[in-house]
Amino acid sequence: MVEPSKRTRSTKKKKVRTPGGKTVTHFGRKKSGKAECGLCSKNLSGVATGTATAMKNTAKTKKMPSKPYAGVLCPECLDSLMRYQTRIEAKFSSEDLSDLDIRRDLRLEKYLPRGWYEDASAGKVKKKAVKSKPVKKAEAKPKSPKKTVKKKTAKKKAGAKRKSPKGAKKK
Ligand SMILES: [Zn+2]
Repeated sequence: MVEPSKRTRSTKKKKVRTPGGKTVTHFGRKKSGKAECGLCSKNLSGVATGTATAMKNTAKTKKMPSKPYAGVLCPECLDSLMRYQTRIEAKFSSEDLSDLDIRRDLRLEKYLPRGWYEDASAGKVKKKAVKSKPVKKAEAKPKSPKKTVKKKTAKKKAGAKRKSPKGAKKK
């Protein structure tokens, strides 16, 4: 009987022929499979693979790209998802585009947040975008005092420059 620790299926077995002519099984760690796109099952680039210990010792930034749907969807499928999302949201938010005939695609909608279609059909999605705009305006307001501060410092510098020639005259 084999060693109890070697009876597990979580190790990768490899049969190697030794110089003496014997066939010996080598036990190694399993590597994680390559990441695939959820829609078209295409291999995703930029997602690191390896053994569990190798993944534990690699940096978080080297494991996954910092992009929405990274490690989930390929760029082509993400593009179609974003197009679908904006089309549906535009259909329900504006009256001009309400005649658009778009079929509901549950295959794509799977990757959108839960209850998204209900919010979009009720026109709630556009309201959120409007709410975000005043925040930008509030951010823009503090910029004007900064400019005045810069001017003040410039004046101070100018004053310092004026002082120095006076000192030169005294000498
Ligand atoms: Zn894809």
